[in-house]
Formats: sequence, C-alpha cells, structure tokens
Amino acid sequence: LIKDRQKKTEDISAVYDMKEKLGEGSFSEVRLAQDRRTQKLVAVKCIQKRALKGKEAMLENEIAVLHKIKHDNIVSLEEIYETPAELYLVMTLVTGGELLDRILVRGTYTEKDASSVVGQVLDAVLYLHNMGIVHRDLKPENLLYDTAFEDSKIVISDFGLSIIIITKCGIVDLQPERALFLSIHPCVSVYLLSAPELLEQKTYGKAVDCWAVGVIAYILLCGYPPFYDENDMELYKQIVKAEYAFDSPYWDDISESAKDFISHLLQKDPEKRYTSEQALQHPWISGDTALEKNIH
Ligand code: ADP
Ligand code: MG
Repeated sequence: LIKDRQKKTEDISAVYDMKEKLGEGSFSEVRLAQDRRTQKLVAVKCIQKRALKGKEAMLENEIAVLHKIKHDNIVSLEEIYETPAELYLVMTLVTGGELLDRILVRGTYTEKDASSVVGQVLDAVLYLHNMGIVHRDLKPENLLYDTAFEDSKIVISDFGLSIIIITKCGIVDLQPERALFLSIHPCVSVYLLSAPELLEQKTYGKAVDCWAVGVIAYILLCGYPPFYDENDMELYKQIVKAEYAFDSPYWDDISESAKDFISHLLQKDPEKRYTSEQALQHPWISGDTALEKNIH
C-alpha cells in the first residue's frame, strides 16, 4: 500500500492511454485517459513543473496531503506519475459536468437543490478543516457532478494545490507571510471569491473557505456573484468592505433563512464568520427552511 502511494516514474502513457482534453489552465491540463490494465476511464491532471520553480519542496508537501484525502464529495486521487518536466495526478473520472452548466439547463431549480449542493460542499470543507487543510480555491468551476443522474452528488474536483495555487498568471504563493502578491497581482479572477482578509494580506485560515462557500451559495440562488466590478480596484474595495446586497427583484422570493445563512458566511470579520460546522447546523442546510419552489 505504501509503495502504491509513492510517485511513479515510469512512462504514464505505457499505463494509461491518454485521450482528449477535458479542461485546461496555463500550467496544467486535464485529459481523459484509459487504464490499459483495467480499461477504466480516469481523468489525468498534467502539471508543468516549470511553473513550480523553486517551489518543489512545497509540492511534495501538497502531494503528501493529497494522498490522505478520502471523502465522498472530493474527487479521489488514485496515482501520481512524475517525469523531469511534468507531474501527472490520476483522478477518478467524474462525468456529470460542471455545477453551473447543469443548473442552467435544468427545467426547475429550487432553494432545496441549492441547499443540497452547498451542504455537500460544506461536508467536504469540514472534513478538510478537521484535517487542518485550507482549500483556498473553492469556486463553482471546481464543483462537478459525479454522474449525469439527476440525484448525482457534487464533488470538489480541484485539489487546488492548496499551498501553491496555479493561476492563469503563474504561481501564487499564498502562505500568510508571503501573501503580498495580492496587492500587485494582475489577475482579477482570483479576487472574485477571495475573502477580505486574503485581499488585505492579513493572516488567514479556514475562514476563507467559508467565505467562498457564501459566495457560491449566493451565486447558486441568483445566478450572479455578490461582488463584481470590471475595475479591479473597485472590486477589491467591495470585497474588503464585504459590500453586497440582496438586490430586488432577484432576491425578492428567496427565503429569509437563505439570506441569513449567506450573511453569516459573507461576514467581513473572519472571527465572526460561521465556521463550516456552524454553517452545516444552520436550518437552511440541516432544517427545512430551504424553499421548494422553482427559482429559475
Ligand atoms: P485547473 O487547475 O485548471 O482549475 P481543474 O482540476 O479544476 O484544473 O480541472 C479543469 C477542468 O477539467 C475542470 O473544470 C473539469 O471540466 C475538468 N476536470 C477536472 N477534474 C476532472 C475529473 N476528475 N473528471 C472529469 N473532469 C475533470
Ligand atoms: Mg479548477
């Protein structure tokens, strides 16, 4: 078993038949692949190591952590292969597509549906937090349906490489003492779900994931993000002030309970923000306050 968990240096294409691309970033791409031994289909994330220059030791830590993660709502890591230039993460294939795509094509969509998705994400987040892991990169694009069935569970697909985050702009090192990048970072997309304390370069922890869950819940209920401005500086200001609204008419028919839930997560002060445990206990998740009427 221990041997299984180590990185393999043989040629991955001898073991897996690499097929079409499923997704792509600047330094990584995800490809469909078939295990030649079992014919099983998997997803392989290929990371260019040149993107990690100087950070290899951190990557080793990340990988050690990734191997320990086993949760129903987090995609499993099956094997790791390594060449001098690349790292391949072999993951269980999930086939249900991205969360937001699926919601858009659904005929009906209710608060109950949103509550179920958020509850599953929170289960996974609580699990990570109990292991001392902060994901740091929760966002709708990383939430996939496991299967095409209507009742499919949601899985967090992106391991996030939670210490080293690979963005479109390169490596972003988010260790607290080096969080400086954010003030000079040219890439806005990382801002959209970032908690105030991340942007303000304060020390931060698990609470940043809870903020992101709040942003995701907000998007799931109205279809647009709570903080948005084409100008980075304006967006930054909105977030650090935690300045958002439940705008009319979009939020008129949403329950007070949903709004109460979100407001505890989009709480500027990380000390006052709900923890994943508290969020799971909120009646909108664990009780029956999520409405069952269509909100499309
Ligand atoms: P990135 O670092 O580029 O964000 P992700 O791990 O989020 O990488 O994967 C990018 C895309 O690849 C996802 O949005 C999804 O469409 C696809 N993908 C990732 N993991 C899987 C998987 N296990 N099964 C199927 N598709 C996947
Ligand atoms: Mg991703």
